[in-house]
Amino acid sequence: MTSQDNLRSQLSNAVKAILDSLEDSGVVLPGDLRHWKAFRKRETLEAKLIRKVGIVQRAQLGHIMELLGDPPDVGNLSEEFWDSAGAELIAAIQPILIETQIEQAREILDDNPAIGVNWTAVNQNAIDWARKYTFDLVKGINATSRDLLQTSVSSYFEQQMTIGQLEGMLTSTFGPVRAEIISVTEITRAASQGEQVVLDQLHEQGIEMEATWETNDDELVCDICGPLDGINTDEFDSDGQPQWGDLGPPPAHPRCRCWFNIGFAEKK
Ligand SMILES: [Zn+2]
Repeated sequence: MTSQDNLRSQLSNAVKAILDSLEDSGVVLPGDLRHWKAFRKRETLEAKLIRKVGIVQRAQLGHIMELLGDPPDVGNLSEEFWDSAGAELIAAIQPILIETQIEQAREILDDNPAIGVNWTAVNQNAIDWARKYTFDLVKGINATSRDLLQTSVSSYFEQQMTIGQLEGMLTSTFGPVRAEIISVTEITRAASQGEQVVLDQLHEQGIEMEATWETNDDELVCDICGPLDGINTDEFDSDGQPQWGDLGPPPAHPRCRCWFNIGFAEKK
């Protein structure tokens, strides 16, 4: 972290503390400040997930290096090993994806006091979605890890590497960069899902909504997301998900930090 980032984060924590205490004393914050606070909350969840996934992956790499042996043999890693590696990732990821959805849903309701939803159902949907989604996600992460491991071990033999060089190569598979990509993307997806849960309930109540694509400042320059900033849509696919042309809700790409807002559709 640069000293400027550091200063920014200290400042942002201080401002957040002030806003929190204002809210605690009953002050209703204007929408922009509430959004800003919600975004800080999301960054906190993101940082928490990056940390947790990072810890799990680091430990797994250590374990993998032990099991591989010298010369390395991927056959030494049993199906049980990969199953338990998957279970560890699920345990790290799932609770944070649930929390993110619920935070996001709460944010919409704070913004739109006129909306009535069944909060128990929102919670249950968040849990159901996170269970199913995290299982599939981790299956994909494991499959990619196994492929990359296989490729790295092949390179070890082809290029006559040392075990240290092999471990260096594997650090990109099990290291902080991948933990960050996974975490940022999945927090975005969970936040969209939290929004979707509320949207689905409103659809069931026959309430017409529209959705607006919102980019984080750093996504304004993204080729995919930049042009979508602030674009409203009232198109929904058969699952009730808002569509912007060919794109469904964020994330639009790995590390996407966009989100969408729902609002009551204008009467036509
Ligand atoms: Zn984006």
